[in-house]
Amino acid sequence: MSNDIFTVPCPICHKQVEWSEQSPYRPFCSKRCQLIDLGEWAAEEKAIPCETADFAANGLLNEDNDWVNHS
Ligand SMILES: [Zn+2]
Repeated sequence: MSNDIFTVPCPICHKQVEWSEQSPYRPFCSKRCQLIDLGEWAAEEKAIPCETADFAANGLLNEDNDWVNHS
């Protein structure tokens, strides 16, 4: 083995990601790519109906609700 920096391609944008403490989101290059992989980007990038947005916001504020128990 050597001390060469090991890198992996980000699964989303294929940017080389250093596999070290410098890359907390590895194998993703960034939190954004990690969120994209999880599908959570959709909630941020797409316009969502107000009714759904309110429902989601309430869920985030009330973490003891059973329906948001997906973490
Ligand atoms: Zn990326």
